[in-house]
Amino acid sequence: MLKNKVAVVTGGTRGIGYAVVKKFLDNGATVVLCGSRDETARQAVEQLKQENPDYRVEGISVDLLSPEDINEAFENINAKYGSLDILVNNAGISATDSIYTYDPGKFENIIDLNVNAVFYCTQAATKIMKCQPGGGSIINTSSMVSIYGQATGSGYPTSKFAVNGLTKSLARELGKDNIRVNAVAPGVTNTDMVSALPDDVIAPLIATIPLGRVGEPEDMANAFLFLASDMASYITGAVLPVDGAARS
Ligand code: NAD
Repeated sequence: MLKNKVAVVTGGTRGIGYAVVKKFLDNGATVVLCGSRDETARQAVEQLKQENPDYRVEGISVDLLSPEDINEAFENINAKYGSLDILVNNAGISATDSIYTYDPGKFENIIDLNVNAVFYCTQAATKIMKCQPGGGSIINTSSMVSIYGQATGSGYPTSKFAVNGLTKSLARELGKDNIRVNAVAPGVTNTDMVSALPDDVIAPLIATIPLGRVGEPEDMANAFLFLASDMASYITGAVLPVDGAARS
């Protein structure tokens, strides 16, 4: 489904991002995964190559809070592989802080990575995609909490509401350049991010899931594959819930 496509996935070293990288590779894409450190990026590539030595995958570490570094990295990718067709803005952190004790610096950190970095990466990628006959596809990782909020860690849902805002607005702005912008809104998914959350946050969430289980990273990766592919060629500005209907 992604033959001859070049994809960049931020936060591709583990969890949902890693599953997306693998799914894209299995569907013929060349993938550059971005980690926050060289070492984790290298380890993720090694793990993938062990599974299939023919995977066309490279790992890089980029400071996602530096627009200059991101521009340089994406220009290098374009020069090396000949295009940048798909961008997955997936790197993110969560929060569980109470408003009464929330350190404003921590609130800013979450907005920096979950929102500002999405803007920086999107800006860098669209400069390249605009000049390509095939345009491009951008997929942001939102969250089910982007629809209803959550009872602790208000910075996290706030950041994902902003991701939806960027998704819907840029879909409108970039349609004329054949660049599609969509988001996947995962429900509770079986990754490190979720195992780090306390039981009193996760248990009530799981209790609301009609399908009776948490999502697996591959459940999410399937949605990213669909939105990245030409099968979604008339879909832009969508925020696709992949949450087993878990809305509270
Ligand atoms: P994870 O913690 O397993 O992975 C997070 C990824 O982000 C890692 O690859 C990590 O290297 C990267 N990252 C973290 N801080 C970074 C930084 N400062 N700079 C660069 N990269 C950084 O989490 P996950 O569950 O796979 O989450 C991935 C995305 O999915 C996030 O955007 C998250 O908000 C979203 N999400 C997760 C769930 C869930 O239940 N797991 C639900 C909804 C949305």
